[in-house]
Amino acid sequence: MNILLMGPPGAGKGTQAEKIVEEYGIPHISTGDMFRAAIKAGTELGLEAKSYMDKGALVPDEVTIGIVRERLALADCEKGFLLDGFPRTVAQAEALEQILSDLTKSIDYVINIQVDHDILMSRLTGRRICKSCGATYHLVFNPPANEGVCDRCGGDLYQRADDNEETVGNRLAVYTNQTQPLLDFYQEKGYLKNINGQQDISDVYSDIDSLIGSL
Ligand code: AMP
Repeated sequence: MNILLMGPPGAGKGTQAEKIVEEYGIPHISTGDMFRAAIKAGTELGLEAKSYMDKGALVPDEVTIGIVRERLALADCEKGFLLDGFPRTVAQAEALEQILSDLTKSIDYVINIQVDHDILMSRLTGRRICKSCGATYHLVFNPPANEGVCDRCGGDLYQRADDNEETVGNRLAVYTNQTQPLLDFYQEKGYLKNINGQQDISDVYSDIDSLIGSL
């Protein structure tokens, strides 16, 4: 099962992706997570990616496409994959078609999680993430039982460097200008399935699960 998970920053892609990959046993491929891991490891890729991410801009297509091409060729993608945060530009979507065709694979589902623009800003600036296990919280909508401490593993919570108000504003503008046009691209191909992301996390997941089951 080959799935693309789309939606603006703050739509809940990461949260839903965790549930989908657990249920369907496929790898979760998040380009944002790959860049953050490279930054943590201090690699050349990380250094380059950081300069764009800190501003809320997109990492150049050739860099991003290269890492996705390598990742999709790994053996664990044989049974399927969930791409989260890629593609984000029309050039990336076109490159993905080529990569998949070279690997004799194709896309089964493009799931687009829809959330109104004004809700995204408060979701993103209030988001907190566990340093140890990656669990996501929100200061208002989904707070941990003890401030700053992960309910799941007791790890420290932090705010992503690009979740401050100014950078979030840039990320949302980049989404509108560069990523939203992709929805038409996939709509025209008949792949696009929209999901209401303004519900409880479990209801969003249940809609996604029934959608996958019905196709
Ligand atoms: P995310 O975790 O998906 O919100 O991504 C965080 C940041 O990583 C983005 O704001 C971009 O700077 C970078 N990034 C992630 N995925 C891509 C992509 N497909 N193309 C370009 N930049 C990306």
